[in-house]
Amino acid sequence: MSRDDDVLVVGAGQAGVQVACLLRDAGHRGAVTLVGEEPVPPYQRPPLSKGFLTGSLGADALALRDQDYWGARDIGLVLGEAVTEVVRGGHGSGRARTDRGRTVAFDRLVLATGATPRRLDVPGGDADGVLTLRTLADAGRLRDRLRAARDVVVVGGGFIGLEVAATAAALGARVVVLEAGSRILGRVVSEATAQHLAAHHHANGVEIRTRARIVEVVTDGGDARAVLTTDGAVRADLVLVGIGAAPRTGLAASLGLRTDGGVVVDEHALASDGTTLAVGDCTVLADPTPWGDGETSVRLESVDHAVEHAATAVRTILGESTPHTAVPWFWSDQGSAKLQIVGLRRPGDVATLRPSGSGRHVVGFHRRGRLVAAEVVGSPAEFMALRTLLGARHPVPVEVFADPEVALRQLAKQARSATVTAR
Ligand SMILES: Cc1cc2nc3c(=O)[nH]c(=O)nc-3n(C[C@H](O)[C@H](O)[C@H](O)COP(=O)(O)OP(=O)(O)OC[C@H]3O[C@@H](n4cnc5c(N)ncnc54)[C@H](O)[C@@H]3O)c2cc1C
Repeated sequence: MSRDDDVLVVGAGQAGVQVACLLRDAGHRGAVTLVGEEPVPPYQRPPLSKGFLTGSLGADALALRDQDYWGARDIGLVLGEAVTEVVRGGHGSGRARTDRGRTVAFDRLVLATGATPRRLDVPGGDADGVLTLRTLADAGRLRDRLRAARDVVVVGGGFIGLEVAATAAALGARVVVLEAGSRILGRVVSEATAQHLAAHHHANGVEIRTRARIVEVVTDGGDARAVLTTDGAVRADLVLVGIGAAPRTGLAASLGLRTDGGVVVDEHALASDGTTLAVGDCTVLADPTPWGDGETSVRLESVDHAVEHAATAVRTILGESTPHTAVPWFWSDQGSAKLQIVGLRRPGDVATLRPSGSGRHVVGFHRRGRLVAAEVVGSPAEFMALRTLLGARHPVPVEVFADPEVALRQLAKQARSATVTAR
């Protein structure tokens, strides 16, 4: 790959934007074209389920770059057009066509197509007032409807569902979360953290019903009126469906690339043809943590991952073959509760609750005696310390982690100076 390659990035979200910007930052000389199907300049998604819904952040505040950035960096930004077809040449080159008939030639293709929300597949699931949340347009609709909503049902006790539930309750709605599993956040956090957050939501007036089986959204004149479960009906004038997102792999599949719950990429962000790159939410990759087993595959949906993965792809394009290793981190603001996660937990890891003050909650996960992940609520300083410790691979035995007399910040300081000394 070369600095003179013309690069086409499909998808102008967090990961695609990062690829384009980093290429120019690194002095890439070839053309850089970024094509996004959404008709608005690239923006941050996290506030869509938080500040944007409450009205504390307007759409202007979400922009990933200033308006004049793209021209100044000579990045060809094409908005409101979807790439629908790619014809390959040799050695990774080819030609892409958009739904508006534009053709873009490239030497190097980067897929950054993200994910699309899963829909509720029951009668009435497509009624007016049954919404999903992924884009600024979705968030605009949800925000408008929330203002008038009295009875909000959130389907799915995952990150997005619970963030919206907290916001809706704060805006004065009666909120019921219907979760299919035996607890909230079943895929993404430990039992202890789920319990801590469930208590927070109850205290803020959000009702959570687990093991919920939804059979229908009852409508009247096309509008949602109730959600019918096997246990009865729940009144609803607004239904937010937050049951996960499916990776957008259509283009990759049409190119014959391997997909398996995402575009399969190696440690250089290369897809199975060895030349196309793929980054961010649309991909599946080997656990990138330093203590990953090289076999477990993960699909990571976070800003941190999108940004770090983009950096790996850019190094690959520039011919620097540095493999992607990272200790991923993630945050979720659920009303006043800030959840932060670092590392990747696996079944079998030993969970240890660190004694903490009121409102704070810190759990560490050890694998063969090594700290591999942590979940923190309401303690950003301890989270930062844990991120540093994990990043530096500093040993934190279970008994040290569990000892409230040990200041994690002090340990992190030692880890930082040890890293500097080692250099
Ligand atoms: C409501 C919400 C809240 C979130 N909150 C947090 C949070 O608190 N913390 C956190 O770490 N992460 C959060 N995330 C996750 C984070 O935003 C994503 O992980 C990140 O945006 C992924 O970036 P991406 O570029 O891979 O995908 P996306 O940002 O989804 O971008 C993909 C883009 O590609 C476009 N596209 C797809 N196919 C085509 C095509 N064929 N042609 C042209 N364009 C195409 C899509 O329209 C989209 O704009 C949140 C996500 C959402 C939706």
